[in-house]
Amino acid sequence: MTLPLPVIDLAFDRSHIWHPYTSLADPLPVYPVTGARGVYLELADGRRLVDGMSSWWAAIHGYNHPVLNQAVTTQLERMSHVMFGGLTHEPAITLAEQLAELTPEPLQKVFFSDSGSVSVEVAIKMAIQYWATLGETRKTRLLTVRSGYHGDTFAAMSVSDPVTGMHRLFSGVLQRQIFAESPSCAFHDPWNEECIGDLRRKLERHADEIAAVIIEPVVQGAGGMRFYAPRYLGRLRELCDEFGVLLIFDEIATGFGRSGKLFALEHAEVSPDILCVGKALTGGYMTLAATLTTGVVAETISSGNPGLFMHGPTFMANPLACAVAAANIRLLLSYDWKSKVAGIERGLESALSPCRTMEGVVDVRVLGAIGVVELENPVEMGLIQKKFVDRGVWVRPFGRLVYLMPPYIITDEELGLLADAVTEVVYETLAESR
Ligand SMILES: *Cc1c(COP(=O)(O)O)cnc(C)c1O
Repeated sequence: MTLPLPVIDLAFDRSHIWHPYTSLADPLPVYPVTGARGVYLELADGRRLVDGMSSWWAAIHGYNHPVLNQAVTTQLERMSHVMFGGLTHEPAITLAEQLAELTPEPLQKVFFSDSGSVSVEVAIKMAIQYWATLGETRKTRLLTVRSGYHGDTFAAMSVSDPVTGMHRLFSGVLQRQIFAESPSCAFHDPWNEECIGDLRRKLERHADEIAAVIIEPVVQGAGGMRFYAPRYLGRLRELCDEFGVLLIFDEIATGFGRSGKLFALEHAEVSPDILCVGKALTGGYMTLAATLTTGVVAETISSGNPGLFMHGPTFMANPLACAVAAANIRLLLSYDWKSKVAGIERGLESALSPCRTMEGVVDVRVLGAIGVVELENPVEMGLIQKKFVDRGVWVRPFGRLVYLMPPYIITDEELGLLADAVTEVVYETLAESR
């Protein structure tokens, strides 16, 4: 069955629709997409691009996957949505069972929400309400590390990197959180206690006003694409316990295999008190996130006054999203995804390595299905984006970072095309800027 091509009014788009982090006065061009299949995005002019972004970490199994399509279609015929207040349904229960089973054993209680940022708001609210229930009403602040990213809503912004984030714009409005230096040991560096020294000192000084530490385990995503030593998380867990502070892991970017482990926390075998997942949860089909917590946190919140957790989004546990998420997780566990991701890691490592010696490249790093080329200077988005599209790949750098996180279904040949495009475009861009 072929569908008629949609009519695309680019002029209307340009003058009326906000795209992420853009101006409406003079926006950079956007490329109209009419379809997506497997690892390819199909543009309106007929070009096909190999996708290097997985639509921001999400589409781990590519687009239009028959198994995921079937899950949505089957659920659609039952019901697309019902309110979650006073009602429940099989897709939510199945998915919650999977999440409780696959994450560390203490995390048994699941709160569904509609996006990653909201799941972070929920996590922060849980931590503050936990301490309030215990009579610790001063413990309302968050401690985090620099170069983090946790979302665009207000509490999430307040714990994202204060320099690359939006603190300047909203200073005076954002809650004032406590920032420690980001972990200074890279993924493979030997452990050195000073890696966590600044965070430890901040805990020592402020523990009585801190509800929780929030951090992205092992991989700091949109805040800088940094990979740090897993040992950091073990020490962090010990320090949080020592100082009486909850620990929140934000696995919205790393969850579901991206870093080479199902969850990045498995690099360290550490369990947080609260865990956020999103992005790849539905295989990129639609928006859904979840916040998991322990029996202790849930029971404490439920024991106090009002004895309720005060949150409930309209589209909480949307059945379509839960059904496709459950199917996506079953799909992921049905094949040897670890070997696939390890293969992508080797492929990226070898294909991106020519960048290491280029003048103007600061670092090349690869972990799991994530490859990063860090440049000395920021790229010009409009220019570099076009170079990639002209080479038949979809790569969207930001700032000084050109990076890849392809769908796991990518073939060696397509991965080679993608990584070679990065190497060539980086080379060309650096040459032109000299
Ligand atoms: C993307 C992201 C978020 C925000 O999720 P949204 O669904 O965009 O609201 C939060 N934390 C991390 C680590 C992310 O990568």
